[in-house]
Amino acid sequence: MSFLSATLSRVKPSPTIAMTAKAAELKAAGRDVIGLSAGEPDFDTPQNIKDAAVAAIAAGKTKYTAPDGIPELKQAVCAKMKRDHGLEYTPAQVSVGTGGKQTLYNALMATLNEGDEVVIPAPYWVSYPDMVLLAGGTPVVAETSIQTNFKLTADQLEAAITPKTKWFIFNSPSNPTGAGYSREELKELTDVLLRHPHVWIMTDDMYEHLAYDGFEFCTPAQIEPQLYDRTLTCNGVSKAYAMTGWRIGYAAGPVELIAAMRKVQSQSTSNPCSVSQWAAVEALNGTQDFLAPNNEKFVRRRDLVVRMLNEIDGISCPTPEGAFYVYPSIAGLMGKTTPQGTVIDSDEAFAIALLEEADVAVVFGAAFGLSPNFRVSYATSDEALKEACTRIQRFCASLT
Ligand code: PLP
Repeated sequence: MSFLSATLSRVKPSPTIAMTAKAAELKAAGRDVIGLSAGEPDFDTPQNIKDAAVAAIAAGKTKYTAPDGIPELKQAVCAKMKRDHGLEYTPAQVSVGTGGKQTLYNALMATLNEGDEVVIPAPYWVSYPDMVLLAGGTPVVAETSIQTNFKLTADQLEAAITPKTKWFIFNSPSNPTGAGYSREELKELTDVLLRHPHVWIMTDDMYEHLAYDGFEFCTPAQIEPQLYDRTLTCNGVSKAYAMTGWRIGYAAGPVELIAAMRKVQSQSTSNPCSVSQWAAVEALNGTQDFLAPNNEKFVRRRDLVVRMLNEIDGISCPTPEGAFYVYPSIAGLMGKTTPQGTVIDSDEAFAIALLEEADVAVVFGAAFGLSPNFRVSYATSDEALKEACTRIQRFCASLT
């Protein structure tokens, strides 16, 4: 019998790790690899937030805290939910965790039993299905298509729901597609959910502030107040505030669920880093002025990448509403052969050949559950993006 747990054997190793390792290997060998696979902004954490952390250290706020967050941060989350979405929450309805990832994981650990199904639209953030598996549940993947710009339709959601469905995981703007649901598109989904009172909604609003061209972000509990009692609204400071390393995420929802999540956290990580929590208080309560100039840069980069990728014969790239990813289809390149003789028979083959033969690292679509595509993160400089897209253009033109 294996020493390792049976649960772990159900979980796939991250498919992105192989690509990252390969890119690192080539870089170490002196190759000029451009990485378009990072899931984090290239901006620094704003100074006021760093200052708040330094002040917290100086004031000795360096000890254990309450398991799911200091009162000041919970209060800041309540104020944010009211300010941005008109939603009322009390601190007892808020859980702070070590990154958005841990809050999602805590919620799944706190609720899933064997046989419970979790509906996940594809393409999805790589961690959702594996977190569900680790928590003992069954992921049910609902595939979207490029025709709807990777947004789940009401019919697709309806078809995925069964009597065993416990959660529907919703993510807008999305990683990996950048797709953001309009108020109307989200209302169509919440109407379906109203008909299935046993299904809870876990909404991952991590990319809320990274929205472009006047796109109006909205979250399910705001669109459909009748769902408030079965919605867990998850968010965090990692992306909008360029705080990926600080590890602070939060969730707001029903008191009993939050208490159960607290139990999971108190027996695993005890509490999120005290200093980071004080920095997050400043992120949420302090100036939001840097968001607009950052977003201007992201829009410029998105437009550059979408334009250059769409110039390629065989690639089709929708313009997404938010986040910092695009998810082009390579359906028109399938079956072609690279100069070094690799047949492009999958998006994984495409991504590996692009890295080996053109020195550009992207993540292949199979990792996100919808093929044949690849994900580009445009959270890097305009120069690097221009050069990378030129290389992708050259590589695709060389296929026969
Ligand atoms: N949710 C989505 C959709 C993400 O893309 C990420 C990070 O890549 C997370 C959650 C996790 O964020 P954090 O770094 O706060 O754990």
